[in-house]
Amino acid sequence: MTFDLILRNAAIVDREGRADIGISGGKFAAIEAGLPATGAPEHDCGGRLVVPGFVETHIHLDKSCLLGRCNCEKGTLDEAIAEVVKAKRAFTEEDVYQRASQTLEKAIKNGTNQMRTHVEVDPRVGLTSFRALKQLKLDYSWAIDLQLCVFPQEGLLDDPGCDAVMLQALREGADVVGGAPYMDKDSHSQIGRIFEMAKEFDVDIDFHLDFGLDPAHLDLDEVCRMADATGWGGRVAIGHVTKLSAMPKAAFDAAAKRLADAGVAVTVLPATDLFLTGRDADHNVPRGVTPAHKLRAQGVNCSISTNNVLNPFTPFGDCSLIRMINLYANVTQVAATADLTGCLDMVTSGSAKLINRADYGIAVGHPADLVVLDCATKAQAVCEIAQPLFGLKRGVRTFDKPAAMLHKPN
Ligand SMILES: [Zn+2]
Repeated sequence: MTFDLILRNAAIVDREGRADIGISGGKFAAIEAGLPATGAPEHDCGGRLVVPGFVETHIHLDKSCLLGRCNCEKGTLDEAIAEVVKAKRAFTEEDVYQRASQTLEKAIKNGTNQMRTHVEVDPRVGLTSFRALKQLKLDYSWAIDLQLCVFPQEGLLDDPGCDAVMLQALREGADVVGGAPYMDKDSHSQIGRIFEMAKEFDVDIDFHLDFGLDPAHLDLDEVCRMADATGWGGRVAIGHVTKLSAMPKAAFDAAAKRLADAGVAVTVLPATDLFLTGRDADHNVPRGVTPAHKLRAQGVNCSISTNNVLNPFTPFGDCSLIRMINLYANVTQVAATADLTGCLDMVTSGSAKLINRADYGIAVGHPADLVVLDCATKAQAVCEIAQPLFGLKRGVRTFDKPAAMLHKPN
């Protein structure tokens, strides 16, 4: 057997012991201890943890890096939406491409090699952002697989003309359809319309859902009902769902069972949820971060993602998913080792499952996508924000991020 590259002494995630990884033709060709040398270039991983790469399921590239143009004084959801509505009027394809590529490059350098990005389409911005990101998807395919999820951030049914723009984006190749039902007066009707579009174009669904702290009205019941009715289980995700963080245990457990049974996955977005939630409290501010690890324990597939970067929805961000999962674990008081290791799954395998990437994972025959982390175990990765040292996409090196070095006096 011949290889293009051999990685030795790799602690491959979810596999006992250390192994060597032989790569050929952009795919994993052999994974076992003691692969014979073939003259191919070799790299010694020194027992470091090797993961297939981080997977971002929910990020807004089109409205990233807007801080210089928007006010962010109150830090509320209403302010954020209003400010971005204003900024969007000046969007051009070149402008969106330039900001989105900046953000995407940061994500790649932080070990992300799969991404679903949510793109706003409506009668005012039209397909400007969508077309810019379509080009970005092509231009960066050497480093990352990008899915475009089009959605109506300013409402669908209450925004005349929006339906037609959504349909046009789907005809032009949008990979996923999304919604923000809380933006229409009749949220259930928006949910119904999005399911119709998904069926017509045979695409997955990804909603912004149940943002807020009042669990009296939950749209997730309707989403689960529709997933059952249409057979779309396993193809539906909901993001934020901060209302679950405000539910007592019995109600939370019932919602978890409903989601697990319907095959509806959940993405928690800690940076935005922490920044926007509880703005009316002047003390004991509720944190609004749904405990995804508790949903996982009840069979719900979950991911943790970045959402917004450097805009009025979240004026922070470095596109590092290992930092995000550490933030999540800290805020939601994850303690048990099993929960800590499970946290890493919520930025890797669980996220890949959410976006339905069947060929994700370090296994013979899969595309040779991997990232080497500067740690030995999954728990260490989460606790220490272990940095990615380098990554491969289909066997080709995409980034290097050497570990810091001390210069001790002699
Ligand atoms: Zn979002």
